[in-house]
Amino acid sequence: MVLKVNNLHKSYKKTQVLRGISLDIGESKNLAIVGSSGSGKSTLLYILGGLEKSDEGEVLVDNINIANLNDEQLADFRNQSIGFVFQFHFLLPSMNCLDNILLPAKIGGHSLKKVKTRILEFARVLKVEHCLKKYPFEISGGEQQRVNIIWAISLSPKLLLCDEPTGNLDSENTQIVLELLRKVAHEIGSILVVVTHDVAIADSFEQKITIEDGQIIS
Ligand code: ADP
Ligand code: MG
Repeated sequence: MVLKVNNLHKSYKKTQVLRGISLDIGESKNLAIVGSSGSGKSTLLYILGGLEKSDEGEVLVDNINIANLNDEQLADFRNQSIGFVFQFHFLLPSMNCLDNILLPAKIGGHSLKKVKTRILEFARVLKVEHCLKKYPFEISGGEQQRVNIIWAISLSPKLLLCDEPTGNLDSENTQIVLELLRKVAHEIGSILVVVTHDVAIADSFEQKITIEDGQIIS
């Protein structure tokens, strides 16, 4: 997959959040996005993942403009091609963590046995095996974040979008999570985009952009 972004603009009411963002991310590349709080990082990630629409500009995934997809195509695209790690927990409170993680596989009609094997392996690496049978409210914020990561990578997405994926984690778990995200992205050959305010993390990525007031400043 290659990802190209041309001149994105986005406003909420009178607030201009994105003011002309362009990007070109090649096959299997990884990119860090840094910038202060409120600079537009999450908004950009949502637009890349087809969760929000831009007012102007375009997102081209393998030369297909995602704005031209109908609702069903967009839902398929998100289910099959995108892994999204949200900044804040999003797990459904009425299901245990394993059922939460399995939901996209069920919706996409995948073999649950195969996906489950992957999930158990990821849970072991991220040290959240003990959380799988628990409900989201029964585990800590850091554990929810790692469950969220397993949910995002369980179906081997070609585009892995992570919004401050280590925001709730201590330094040891931060390293484990970053290593796993890189390893999985490398194995799948997927594009990895990570929003972070940690400069040391950002410096370890192949490409890095800094956003300020909705524009790329470096
Ligand atoms: P960041 O992730 O860099 O902290 P965001 O993309 O979340 O920044 O937000 C950028 C700006 O857009 C902020 O001023 C925020 O208040 C505003 N914003 C984000 N989402 C919405 C929304 N759904 N409605 C109104 N304003 C929003
Ligand atoms: Mg944000």
